[in-house]
Amino acid sequence: MQDSLVNVKARLGSTKFITDAEEHAHITIDEDICVTCPHENCMNACPAQCFEKIDGRMKFTYEDCVECGTCDIVCTPGSVTWYNPRGNFGVNYRYG
Ligand code: SF4
Ligand code: SF4
Repeated sequence: MQDSLVNVKARLGSTKFITDAEEHAHITIDEDICVTCPHENCMNACPAQCFEKIDGRMKFTYEDCVECGTCDIVCTPGSVTWYNPRGNFGVNYRYG
């Protein structure tokens, strides 16, 4: 790997995640809306690479989310639903 490239998933190892149960995921997407999406902005905008297209369907992994809120802004078709994480769950920043 080139020095200039950043391995996002490796960098996320410096944060601590207290994962809530899937039925309490703080972000959900509507895959049926995603299949009609004209831009798929979420894939480029999410700093934690939580959005991935697999077999033509958008998949979302909430466990690595750094809670920046960007996906809620860039998802103009309205697939993303964002809830505040429950108390004591979610990301904990160890540095800065
Ligand atoms: S931007 Fe929103 S609607 Fe488009 S693919 Fe991403 S989550 Fe789905
Ligand atoms: S809140 Fe930020 S880190 Fe979490 S899924 Fe959305 S864009 Fe990615």
